Amino acid sequence: MSDALPLIFDVHLDLAMNAQEFNRDLRWSHERIRRRELEMTDHAFRSRHVVCFPEMRRGRVGLCVATQLARHVPYFGRMPGWSSPEQAWAHTQGQLAWYREMEACGELRQIRNRSELEEHLSRWTGASEEAVAKLPIGYILSLEGADSIVTPRHLERSYADGLRAIGLTHYGPGVYGHGTDDQGPLTSQGRELLREIERLGLILDATHLCDESFWDAMDRYGGPVWASHSNCRALANWNRQFNDAQIQELIRRGAVLGMAFDAIMMVHGWHWKRSLPRDFNLRLEKICDHIDHICQLAGNARHVGLGTDLDGGFGTEQTPMDLQSIADLQNLTSLLAARGYKPNEIEAIFHGNFLGFLRRVWKQ
Ligand SMILES: [Zn+2]
Repeated sequence: MSDALPLIFDVHLDLAMNAQEFNRDLRWSHERIRRRELEMTDHAFRSRHVVCFPEMRRGRVGLCVATQLARHVPYFGRMPGWSSPEQAWAHTQGQLAWYREMEACGELRQIRNRSELEEHLSRWTGASEEAVAKLPIGYILSLEGADSIVTPRHLERSYADGLRAIGLTHYGPGVYGHGTDDQGPLTSQGRELLREIERLGLILDATHLCDESFWDAMDRYGGPVWASHSNCRALANWNRQFNDAQIQELIRRGAVLGMAFDAIMMVHGWHWKRSLPRDFNLRLEKICDHIDHICQLAGNARHVGLGTDLDGGFGTEQTPMDLQSIADLQNLTSLLAARGYKPNEIEAIFHGNFLGFLRRVWKQ
């Protein structure tokens, strides 16, 4: 019998962005990355990162959805972005090249279908700590915001490269629709791309759709939908989170929502770059409120999982105070148990719900 920690399937990590834009070698230890950044002042999150491969293995995050991400911003806007979709595409191809290098050195393994998924899970299940230290971490490729898809043919190319999930928008206005902090329906190109996404059998990621684009997409899309990193607006009042009607719609469609550990998505009234976790006495416990909220709406624990976003351009200046590493997610076991969640429900939240979703979508 093994007393191994439960597997964590984190359905939202911007691994390539973290490695390339912040120049972090994710193979390094937590301490080494932090030490290297001690003198750096370009970002508030320097020396405060919480994700690297050794920490993922220590926390048994053996499987994740890892993103490509590049926005197109045609004018000088508040958000950074590329001047053309072609430039954004080229940026995502650089991110893909990083994933391929990490595969080549045995750190990552791409998962594209059911048989690869089951084979990967069989290697991680019950593996000893020593064995896990040598196992590649599985990743499913996703695209966060579709601005970089220049034409539908580019989507076919991405599919051939293993892309299995896609969100149409990110922050602000996009080529295909309107994202967080913006308003409006999908664009005509967005409606066309949605048909192509459905034809290819990709998972539509509802995260980052603004309310109007969200309902437009729900009306038009007949394929599988999840929300990779979306918390509850009832507990963190900002349009980045979903309201109860949206969560109900996702539940009705069999979706699973991944809980994000960015403080700004966890509490009411967080001021970006001004608030600190201690101002809110913010602890991991808070995410249990979001999990509970979704379970109450669903009437069960089958529609919530983890999509932490823990390397999405912030560090411990914007995470719960008792989270210094992604490995600390394992402490959710006792927090959820204290609220009355049964072991099988905790495992469902850690990995089972999103795995069940993939098994339904991926027939082979
Ligand atoms: Zn995001």
